[in-house]
Amino acid sequence: MTQTSPPASATTSSQGPQIARRGVLYILSSPSGAGKTTLARRLIAADPGIAMSVSVTTRKARPGERDGIDYFFVELQRFNAMRDGGELLEWAQVFDNSYGTPRAAVEAAISAGKDVLFDIDWQGAQQLSEKMKGDVVRVFVLPPSGHILEQRLKSRAQDPADVVARRMAAASAEISHWAEYDYVIVNNDLETSVSAVTSILNAERLKRERLLGLSAFVRDMQRAL
Ligand code: 5GP
Repeated sequence: MTQTSPPASATTSSQGPQIARRGVLYILSSPSGAGKTTLARRLIAADPGIAMSVSVTTRKARPGERDGIDYFFVELQRFNAMRDGGELLEWAQVFDNSYGTPRAAVEAAISAGKDVLFDIDWQGAQQLSEKMKGDVVRVFVLPPSGHILEQRLKSRAQDPADVVARRMAAASAEISHWAEYDYVIVNNDLETSVSAVTSILNAERLKRERLLGLSAFVRDMQRAL
């Protein structure tokens, strides 16, 4: 874990005492077309305690994508400058483009006890796990079947046919990393999967090692007994 000053042990809200804790770095990976982006959006919309990490990419924006919300769209020169200047927590080449996670926003969130959601590939998951081991929770989302994944990739109007073909090959490569993850969800049914990613996050939030304020909280409690 990176070193940050511990916050006060607990604050009181209408729900009772809130124990100070480190945030969860919550990684969702999957092959393109397995439903990860929908799951991420549902989780973010329902839970104010977790925010999406906005990656930088050299990929061109697709129709409907907004700079600063879906990605920070940058030129390769700018991306390389960020990478070389230590501004990226992890980075990877995916297809012909570079992707990376800006460091500052993540470090600020985690030390404030806020959770961060990452939609990144297996390379990014590996790097984050190495750098921030105790903070990271990794979930891999599998499609219900190879056939269904193929149908979904073909029905995406945004990408040309050769890109779809490459994505199919890349999907197989991405899936080969499933065993490096802490949890695996087979996305048969969206609502069940949303419930699963929510439950995993809520359980991980309660992990004793993250609850920095717990010792002091219990000590105060014992003093009152
Ligand atoms: P897309 O171009 O379809 O938005 O994303 C392609 C792949 O790049 C997806 O698997 C996505 O999870 C991954 N990706 C997006 N941002 C990052 C990032 O910052 N780091 C890494 N390692 N992968 C990313």
